[in-house]
Amino acid sequence: MRLFVALDLPWSAREQLAALSGSGIPGARWVPPENYHLTLRFIGDIPSHVARDVDDALLGLRSRGFALTLTGMGTFSKGGVSSALWVGVERTPPLDHLRNKIEMALQRCGLEPERRKFQPHVTLARLDNPAEGKVAAFVQAHNLFRTEALPVEHFTLFSSLLCKDHAVYTPEAEYELA
Ligand code: ATP
Ligand code: MG
Repeated sequence: MRLFVALDLPWSAREQLAALSGSGIPGARWVPPENYHLTLRFIGDIPSHVARDVDDALLGLRSRGFALTLTGMGTFSKGGVSSALWVGVERTPPLDHLRNKIEMALQRCGLEPERRKFQPHVTLARLDNPAEGKVAAFVQAHNLFRTEALPVEHFTLFSSLLCKDHAVYTPEAEYELA
């Protein structure tokens, strides 16, 4: 099973993000609003007995709820070509704390440490060889984007089924925060 740990978003925020989406970058593959999420830890394919350990470890994790603000915009690029458009996340100690606790819990289950830098974001669109001028103009036009403070009261273990033109994410378990 292909798994990842993420925060889902309230519908108010999804609607705000959806309002930005859909036009301005020809060829962009806009993420459907039900798929918006903030990945805290990508796990990947693991056998089901390890998935059970992961679930146990996440159930045992104690961390506090907090507020999350989405703000700003940016892109990831591969070889100088923009590959993803995202909305940024205000970096706060409780977000980092939760992410670190999840990382420690997963390592105790025998998973390899995550070596990539944590760059919290919500992907809005995948890009394949886009017109870079359009991408830059889009980012610039929406750079002041900001949501209200969104309450985070749980995190979720999702499975991901990669389909032809989009992934299907299924919440497998939710973990309440104090
Ligand atoms: P697709 O791969 O078809 O574009 P996707 O990236 O949305 O779809 P997954 O590849 O299953 O679906 O990834 C699930 C989540 O984990 C996404 O938020 C993705 O950005 C993130 N992710 C995937 N691979 C990694 C990785 N190697 N390191 C960090 N995060 C990752
Ligand atoms: Mg992927």
